[in-house]
Amino acid sequence: NVPAPVNETILGYAPGSKERELLKEALADSRSKVIDIPMYIGGEEVYTEQKGKITPPHDHQHVLANYSKGNKNHVTMAIDAALAAKADWENLAWEHRAAIFLKAADLIAGPYRYKLNAATMLGQSKNAYQAEIDSACELIDFLRFNVSYMSEIYKQQPPVSPRGSWNRLEQRPLEGFVFALTPFNFTAIAGNLPTSVAMMGNVVVWKPANTQIFAANVLMQIFREAGLPDGVINLVYASGPDAGDVIFSHPDFAGIHFTGSTGVFQDIWKTIGNNIHKFKTYPRIVGETGGKDFILIHGSADAEVSSTAIIRGAFEYQGQKCSAASRVYIAKSIWPEVKKFMLRDLATFKMGGTEDFSNFINAVIDEKSFNSLAKYIDAAKKDKGVEIIAGGNYDNSKGYFIEPTVLVVDDPKYTTMCEELFGPVLTVYVYDDKDFDKTLDIIDSTSIYALTGAVIGQDRYALEKATHRLRNAAGNFYINDKCTGAVVGQQPFGGARGSGTNDKAGSMINLLRWVSPRTIKETF
Ligand code: NAD
Repeated sequence: NVPAPVNETILGYAPGSKERELLKEALADSRSKVIDIPMYIGGEEVYTEQKGKITPPHDHQHVLANYSKGNKNHVTMAIDAALAAKADWENLAWEHRAAIFLKAADLIAGPYRYKLNAATMLGQSKNAYQAEIDSACELIDFLRFNVSYMSEIYKQQPPVSPRGSWNRLEQRPLEGFVFALTPFNFTAIAGNLPTSVAMMGNVVVWKPANTQIFAANVLMQIFREAGLPDGVINLVYASGPDAGDVIFSHPDFAGIHFTGSTGVFQDIWKTIGNNIHKFKTYPRIVGETGGKDFILIHGSADAEVSSTAIIRGAFEYQGQKCSAASRVYIAKSIWPEVKKFMLRDLATFKMGGTEDFSNFINAVIDEKSFNSLAKYIDAAKKDKGVEIIAGGNYDNSKGYFIEPTVLVVDDPKYTTMCEELFGPVLTVYVYDDKDFDKTLDIIDSTSIYALTGAVIGQDRYALEKATHRLRNAAGNFYINDKCTGAVVGQQPFGGARGSGTNDKAGSMINLLRWVSPRTIKETF
């Protein structure tokens, strides 16, 4: 048996605490130099002439690092290195593979915690708490719980072997290599996607979002220090289309573990479909994609509880969690009181860089995201059906700052009620209390997504009705809580419809996608 996993304790970083000092030292250290970040292919650090700059989104003139850009050749080299490492890796006893990932979890929990949190805070503009729950706790949990699920998978055997025979199940890795594509917003996802695949005996080519490379580089150092053999996970910084061109036409392409936007995933799926005759095996396609996550407040809800759930759900990490609340449906009878609490708390929020621990709101990830959010806000300002009750300002002179903004709309189908904005812009629709049932229908049909959702109220019949009626509207559903903050081992995470293949990150369901079982019958 592997060690029983328990969720990693979240450190508080209180003023004067030792952990706060250590994190501040790590931040100062990372800011004080400009590092050169290589790709990692077959255990080699690969540097190229073509460089990309890494700057904190909240301080875009400060260069933290230069990373080596890759091209199609580097992607081919990464595939070759992965395939060369395959035989040894898949034949290694699973306990030895498990030990590497458990050691990686311990390294993150111990010596690397502050360095990795600092990289996430600077590279992705997360405050200390958001970095701690992501790059420390969630990633450690992914590694430890996945090792435990893995050990359960290898124990599973057919229940019946009639006398004279022995039926066995063998969990083989996929035939070929797997492509891991990770989004900017979670270091935990960057760590989880390649490792969950590799754990099951597979070899991986990993391409993170460019805005995540600063933390990805630290992750790779951790995996190597934990003893991951050369070539098992290869980290390349080619452009998405360049990587796609090479990978999705390679005969040994055996699967993709993706997290990112719905449009990119759909394009990838189409390409894979068009090339299906080129592959030796049907590739496994696993993708967690966009969301338009909701909170529904019933008239029986507690006003302050509702306000806290809305604010935390919508504005933590600037609304850039895939699970972030971006549309709220609230009963007319309770709205004035909830609004009062929301405005009271929003007025206390400080916005700025992550190095100042009193800032709740930091910057959005990049210029593209800033411009897109500013456009939505400008359109809302011009629309007579929209009232902006908080925020509405933005400034990119030093960093990509968007004020936490609350729009109240008179049309439940208004653009920002339907489209994924991925930033600190929340849209509220106030419904008549008697229209609760109608509102459930609206929630279910408003967006193409089905990632997370929440209902808040005290009326048990209303809670039951919402839970049932919205059963297909969210893969993670919360009753009397915000719609963010899934914990590994407690709420396996993932959505359906336009939000993904719902293979639940941090669960046995996900790990089973990375094996190809063989049944063996032996007759005596
Ligand atoms: P993105 O789709 O822009 O990028 C994801 C990855 O795909 C990156 O590594 C990117 O470089 C790569 N990529 C982009 N275009 C490509 C192409 N044409 N071919 C191949 N690869 C390509 O996503 P993002 O902006 O980094 O992340 C935000 C998105 O991720 C949001 O839509 C969010 O909802 C989603 N997300 C979903 C979950 C979930 O669990 N459902 C979790 C986190 C983020």
